[in-house]
Amino acid sequence: MKVPFFRPIIGAEETEEVLDTLKSGWLTTGPKTKKFEEEFAKAVNAPFAVAVNSCTAALHLALEALHLQSDEAVLVPTMTFAATAEVVRYLNAEPVLVDVHPDTLHIDLADAEERLKKCRKRVVGIIPVHIGGMMVNMEEVNKFAKKHNLWVVEDAAHSFPAGWRKSEKDEWKICGSGDSEVTCFSFYANKTITTGEGGMATTHREELAERMRIMSLHGISKDAWKRFSSSGNWYYEIVAPGFKYNLTDVAASIGIHQLKKAELFRKKREEVAKKYNEGMKSIEEIELPPEDINRIHSWHLYYIKLNLEKLSINRSEFIDKLKERGVLTSVHWMPLHMHPYYKKVYGYEESDFETASKVYYRLISLPIFPDLKDEEIDYVIENVRRICEEYRN
Ligand SMILES: *Cc1c(COP(=O)(O)O)cnc(C)c1O
Repeated sequence: MKVPFFRPIIGAEETEEVLDTLKSGWLTTGPKTKKFEEEFAKAVNAPFAVAVNSCTAALHLALEALHLQSDEAVLVPTMTFAATAEVVRYLNAEPVLVDVHPDTLHIDLADAEERLKKCRKRVVGIIPVHIGGMMVNMEEVNKFAKKHNLWVVEDAAHSFPAGWRKSEKDEWKICGSGDSEVTCFSFYANKTITTGEGGMATTHREELAERMRIMSLHGISKDAWKRFSSSGNWYYEIVAPGFKYNLTDVAASIGIHQLKKAELFRKKREEVAKKYNEGMKSIEEIELPPEDINRIHSWHLYYIKLNLEKLSINRSEFIDKLKERGVLTSVHWMPLHMHPYYKKVYGYEESDFETASKVYYRLISLPIFPDLKDEEIDYVIENVRRICEEYRN
């Protein structure tokens, strides 16, 4: 059997909507994008949503709208994707990498506090990452941000739909509706919903939404599509040197229908996660992903951690053994401080991030997507178990 790491699900609704758009005569940002924005904003209970062509673009626009300056610094967990820190560099500011909690891989605020104190530049913001789709405790982040006068931009590339609450007595807070300045989502091909490439920035601050919208299209003071529609005219003004980050109506056509299926997709991934949990809980050579009754988990990722002292093979060999048997996996991620750029420019060493450096060598992300079949789930479980048995210490 062959089990892929991911299979996107595109239904007839998406295909028909794309065809409709192709035939409509309006391919780039227009009415479908507007509809997608409105429906997404409703889905996450946010007053404003700006559709863009990637989550990276959303993060960049957020930091630009917050006036990040080149002599300033931003706290970023080292356990994240390239995008989270590179956007800080786009504005010539410094990403201050922070260690993570060993179980959740969430940004460690105690470590963040230490690094903030030591940083020679002024630290102005923090970008928590809801890794795998299990949200960071946003109350703690917001408290920390308030104490140090920081803005908060959430990297929510994994966490749609997702939610958190403080305790069982409290109400759910949906990711994207919180107190943070901006929340950034991804619709990349293998994210929880997709538009091929795409992203969304949500905010409760109108002036940030306005700035992000203007900067997403050349810094032009009004939506270009309105210029060419019957209600618009030819005149526009450039108010700043903006970017080319707008989402197309072709992509938004896919998004409109993916959005409708998002909770169904999430429930299906949750079922996969439950089956994995049940099937692998007795395997002592691995640790299962963390869970919390106070989270609505998007289950974008299902990562296990190898208990290396109980195994005679390392993580890379474990991945190769799975691959030999047809199970494709991934690693999320090699921490940023271990990459050549961050080592070279900021002088980071593995010993500077004790937890992330250690946990990295244990991580394997298993296949998880809505239409992963029962026999595929069983096959993954069986092979993880067999490899553990064969290479047990
Ligand atoms: C995928 C991802 C991004 C970037 O998303 P794009 O839409 O591809 O730009 C950012 N942050 C994290 C944590 C991601 O996994």
